Amino acid sequence: MQKGQMLYEGKAKKVYATADPDLLIVDYKDDATAFDGKKRGQILQKGIYNNKMSAFFFEKLSDAGIPTHHVKVLSERESLVKRLEIVKVEVVMRNIVAGSLAKRTGLPEGTPLPFPVLEHYYKSDGLGDPMINEYHVRALGLATQDELDTIAALSFKVNDILKAITAQAGLDLVDFKLEYGRHHGQILLGDEISPDTCRFWDSETREKLDKDRFRRDLGKVEEAYQEVLRRLMGPNK
Ligand code: UDP
Repeated sequence: MQKGQMLYEGKAKKVYATADPDLLIVDYKDDATAFDGKKRGQILQKGIYNNKMSAFFFEKLSDAGIPTHHVKVLSERESLVKRLEIVKVEVVMRNIVAGSLAKRTGLPEGTPLPFPVLEHYYKSDGLGDPMINEYHVRALGLATQDELDTIAALSFKVNDILKAITAQAGLDLVDFKLEYGRHHGQILLGDEISPDTCRFWDSETREKLDKDRFRRDLGKVEEAYQEVLRRLMGPNK
């Protein structure tokens, strides 16, 4: 599949058209940003790790009946995906308190939640992705109630599947962000699933093995991404 025109360049990925109007090529970069783009840097080989890891998770989710945009890996950094009309709502699923939930509630980071918590954020760089609720989503026309219900049901299922996979790899799935889109009238899971979008903690030591190492200048950032990939997919990946 040949890369056509570049349609979009985001913080961590470039997206290209293909000869098939239903398919796009995603090219994962090493660039990393945090705090609404105020902190910028590079994480060596991140694009390669995130392309592999996302494909791995999408394939597992697809096997479990979750409709996703993933089609296949094309190269070290590139994957073929279905074209989506992105729903401008980011879904965050949380199992353990961290990050903005710790700040918002005063609960200490690491507090287990009694059940998974789903949050909505308005996908808007200009506004800094503010948290919104279902009423805002519908009032702004970002998604219908039917779409919100589908997205919530899928997100809880994704959480169960990812928790089981990561637990086997000795990782706690603290929280993660999901994005969805419309493809010929169907809601598909899109974007990526990687240490850029998930918090993974070592189940024993609680060491952070995700983008918080970059956000909080904890060092050994590349090593953490590589370690998560190795635990999930084996030593030769
Ligand atoms: N997240 C993300 N993109 C965003 C915001 C959050 O991928 O624009 C992920 C983040 O990596 C974490 C989860 O969503 O796994 C919850 O993030 P949180 O709301 O705690 O925000 P943060 O502390 O990252 O600002």
